[in-house]
Amino acid sequence: MGTSLSRRALLFGRANSTAAPVATVSGACLTYLGVACQSCRDACPESAIRFRPSRAIAQPEIDGERCSGCGECLAPCPTRALSIHPEQRP
Ligand code: SF4
Ligand code: SF4
Repeated sequence: MGTSLSRRALLFGRANSTAAPVATVSGACLTYLGVACQSCRDACPESAIRFRPSRAIAQPEIDGERCSGCGECLAPCPTRALSIHPEQRP
């Protein structure tokens, strides 16, 4: 049973860190209110935001392995639903 390191941990030289910045989506996201929006996806340089249809309107999912925590997705969001937080990893 080996230890796998995340891409971010390798990129940022924090292989021993238990927390790295990652984007999170709050309940303010328009898609949770039934309004179609994908502005954040277009702004992400890492292609870390994917939209999978869960209901009629596809909702954003952050790929924690791809997200660098750069924050580029924050400004384009019309409801400020995105924020950057340390992601706890075992
Ligand atoms: S913080 Fe950067 S890498 Fe992460 S989802 Fe937002 S734009 Fe993409
Ligand atoms: S830009 Fe904001 S409101 Fe639009 S899908 Fe992304 S998180 Fe939701």
